[in-house]
Amino acid sequence: MLDASIFLCEVDAEFTSTLCPACNRIEAENREYKEFHCTSCGHQGEADHIAAINIANRAVDEEIREICNKLPLEERKQAIYSVYHRRHLEYTNEL
Ligand SMILES: [Zn+2]
Repeated sequence: MLDASIFLCEVDAEFTSTLCPACNRIEAENREYKEFHCTSCGHQGEADHIAAINIANRAVDEEIREICNKLPLEERKQAIYSVYHRRHLEYTNEL
């Protein structure tokens, strides 16, 4: 008998359509209709596919999950932005 299971969880969708999964830059200009093109690192792809990658990554991101579990909704957006901004700076410093 096949034992199949799935991982299902709720994620906060904040910035998932404008976040670059390569360099963590959040920028509204990263997305233009169906196209995603990071203004910082040049990563590109189909916008809905990029958003799906961001949602999947967020589901297993302990730092973001902790923010979503601890903070009230009105405080999450800035806290989530701060995490990705720090990660983006770390990424650019590593170049
Ligand atoms: Zn990027």
